[in-house]
Amino acid sequence: MAEKKSSNEKLQEKIFLKKKSAWLSYPKAKVFSFCEGYKDFLGKNKTERLCVQYLIKNLEKKKFKDISQVKKLKIGDKIYKNIKDKAILAAIIGKKNTFNIVGSHIDSPRLDLKPNPVYEDSNLSLIQTHYYGGIKKYHWVNTPLELHGVIITKNKKVNLAIGDKKNDPKFIIPDLLPHLAQKQMDKKGKEVIEGENLNILVGNIPVDDDKIKEQIKFTVMKELNQKYGIIEEDFICAEIELVPASKPTDIGLDRSLIGAYGQDDKVCAYTSLKAFLELKSIKNTAVALFADKEEIGSYGDTGAGSFMLKNFAQEIIIKAGWKTSSSLLLENSKAISADVTAGMNPSHKDVHDPTNVSYLGKGVSVEKYGGGGGKYSTHDASAEYMAEIRSMLDSNKIPWQTGELGKIDIGGGGTIAMFMSRYGMDCLDAGPCILGMHSPCEVASKVDIYAAYQLYKVFWEC
Ligand code: MN
Ligand code: MN
Repeated sequence: MAEKKSSNEKLQEKIFLKKKSAWLSYPKAKVFSFCEGYKDFLGKNKTERLCVQYLIKNLEKKKFKDISQVKKLKIGDKIYKNIKDKAILAAIIGKKNTFNIVGSHIDSPRLDLKPNPVYEDSNLSLIQTHYYGGIKKYHWVNTPLELHGVIITKNKKVNLAIGDKKNDPKFIIPDLLPHLAQKQMDKKGKEVIEGENLNILVGNIPVDDDKIKEQIKFTVMKELNQKYGIIEEDFICAEIELVPASKPTDIGLDRSLIGAYGQDDKVCAYTSLKAFLELKSIKNTAVALFADKEEIGSYGDTGAGSFMLKNFAQEIIIKAGWKTSSSLLLENSKAISADVTAGMNPSHKDVHDPTNVSYLGKGVSVEKYGGGGGKYSTHDASAEYMAEIRSMLDSNKIPWQTGELGKIDIGGGGTIAMFMSRYGMDCLDAGPCILGMHSPCEVASKVDIYAAYQLYKVFWEC
């Protein structure tokens, strides 16, 4: 017979914080089937430009129109704005002239090509890269890579995609063999592989012509010229990225986890898009922001640090004939910065405070602030706004947890929350926690992904 609970036990249940596994909240089949679509998206859209194409295609399927083609806006209208093929803003006009914004980012750490990348050395032709975002450089050697991007020749724009199709060649940065790595292995982790050594192999066959100096580079450039019309100088007018060639995959005997490149932050881009496209009843105007450049500080014309949100608000105000200003509108709006955070890694527990960290499988992580030691470089959400979101989570039975990115003095990280909050709007961070962030294979729990999708949906509908 079960023993009766004492009054102290009952009181403890009431007043202590206890978070159960989120797997108890949803049927497994529902979570798994949602994540099949996510894995498919992730495998095909590894760069911001590919994400933008995917977003536009899916928005247009649901009757969203390019705002530049729309003269007047009324309640229920659905529009999007393409920011230079690298970021997207979309909106459903509501009854109220304030925004509920869910903002994610679609750029991920990777290797970009240098402006003058092709060279020949040691009987090989290579391409030089400059890494983008915070990476552990040693992750990127011996990992098959694929290439995506655009290059503008003197008479056309060429879209490049090499390595993503079944019989495509792939690219690699060969590491040093352990037999000769004594000196390398004594180096600090940061220096084991140096930025200037992230060079990918592209060729080995020379042209059979003694009059040509760099015979292998010649073969590579000739191939590029014949296939795409590219000359060497065109690389200056290009944005070409190398990303891991692997496909997203289930992880674990119970298939509970997903391992994939680029989950930071395409997991939030996908979940928020799914929620956005399913919205039925909204009061406030629902805005979905998919930003670029978060991984390098949100700077630049396609990053959330630009005025893209204000410009979008202004265009909507003019076309909807609202009597407000973009500053006032944004000040009275509210936002979720939809981004991932670090989950507790059982083999590296020393970097986390166990009572203030998120755990895989305990639901969407809602964070009051990010940043690092001393709360620099972050937005610190108000207690009132945290309470508003908590009550939304609880009343919709969405499993959630909270935490900090890591121990106070160990490090930290930013999101786009601080850029949205500049307008004076309420904002907090919410998304799944992941392991191996910024690595070629980040790991997330399927149930946290599903919980994030649920939160974004109810947030827009509130
Ligand atoms: Mn992120
Ligand atoms: Mn990141």
